[in-house]
Amino acid sequence: MIAAISTAPGRAGIGVVRVSGRNLAPLASRLLGTLPKPRHATRVIFGAADGKPIDDGLVLFFSGPASYTGEDVLELQGHGGPVVLQMLLRRCVELGARLAEPGEFSRRAFLNDKIDLVQAEGVADLIDAATEAAARCAMRSLRGEFSDHVEGLAKQLLELRVLVEASLDFPEEELDVLDRENVRTRLRRLYEQVAGSEARGRQGSLLRSGLQVVLAGRPNVGKSSLLNCIAGEDLAIVTEIPGTTRDIVRQTIQIEGVPMNVIDTAGLRDTKDKVEALGIARTWEAIRRADVLLLVVDELTGVTAEDKLVCGGLPEKLKRVTVFNKIDMLGIAPSAKKTGDGWHVRLSARSGEGVDGLRRVLLKIAGWESGAEDMFMARERHLTALKGAGEALQRGAQVFEQGELLAEELRLAQEELNTITGEFTADDLLGVIFGKFCIGK
Ligand code: GDP
Repeated sequence: MIAAISTAPGRAGIGVVRVSGRNLAPLASRLLGTLPKPRHATRVIFGAADGKPIDDGLVLFFSGPASYTGEDVLELQGHGGPVVLQMLLRRCVELGARLAEPGEFSRRAFLNDKIDLVQAEGVADLIDAATEAAARCAMRSLRGEFSDHVEGLAKQLLELRVLVEASLDFPEEELDVLDRENVRTRLRRLYEQVAGSEARGRQGSLLRSGLQVVLAGRPNVGKSSLLNCIAGEDLAIVTEIPGTTRDIVRQTIQIEGVPMNVIDTAGLRDTKDKVEALGIARTWEAIRRADVLLLVVDELTGVTAEDKLVCGGLPEKLKRVTVFNKIDMLGIAPSAKKTGDGWHVRLSARSGEGVDGLRRVLLKIAGWESGAEDMFMARERHLTALKGAGEALQRGAQVFEQGELLAEELRLAQEELNTITGEFTADDLLGVIFGKFCIGK
């Protein structure tokens, strides 16, 4: 029996403590004096051990297996204060529940076959979504679209295996020419689909990870104006990027739903102040993981020695975009060109001319193809599996042409696909996946 506060910490109108276990009747009768009717909102008093009320609220009871986790589930809705919710949680622990680990409710849902691994990951991605496009994409995974797609591939692969393995059982009946052509066609079609899925997954994964942009430039060249201008109305919800903290990220903006986390270099100066030094170390950590350097300069002065000094100290691998701002003052036309020194974009943050060009350059660097509505919000492990499956199919095609057996490669390809939805997944991988969930989910 596990229990957790499932709503976010802090003050709110209501807060929810969730409990899951094989049989919650004994807990319910002691906490509520009754086992509520399943799937009905029931007004109750949550009672302490001494009989005094802890809170007055609502309870929802889901009788297993018709519940999120597949076990009995109680959702105790009290008032959303941290103290009262802690008291309620403690009472559940007194009554035999233990504190749930991060993601443990979803883990149980997975282990009880209520959802597959991709759907569980969709739940976490929906909660973490930074933009509307990311939320919509996560919701599609949650509803099983990605899983269905992968299962479709696995099914085709299975049919091909049946065809191929049949010839293993009857080696004297070699595959005839027609069958060989059939195998060849199916193999090619399957490979194309797997590779296509990987590409769609890579697109979708951009919605989660976004682009890490390092912003540099002297004061007053128009960095803040430019960020506001790029973002337009569509500010992303700022969520914490793993491993970084909010204080170093100046802003998270989105372009067509792709989050861009802008890391400011303004604070990168020598300091003896310990707190500031810590901030600088964090900024450097974020810079090491960044993708793009956005250097903003004044069109009038161009790139100065100071700019060169700052940018010279940044990692080489950063793709460079130099923005020549304030073209309105010189009456120059906007432009975006790829040069030997990265992209050069001329624009005006004041008039907005050329800003669209910069948006397109950033999306291009991110690898985004707009309009890809049917993408999947794949994670790195999905992409690795799809890639592995694709490689196995390619090797299979090769050995097949050499007249050897491709059954083994097909088996490997299928194993890769099965890891995605979690049909064969090692326990330690489950620990990694669910460990990143929030508590109470
Ligand atoms: P930051 O210090 O680099 O963030 O620069 P700001 O965005 O605060 O801009 C500094 C000044 O330059 C402000 O007065 C802006 O209005 C002005 N500015 C920014 N972009 C432009 C531009 O494209 N054209 C003109 N004429 N002025 C600009």
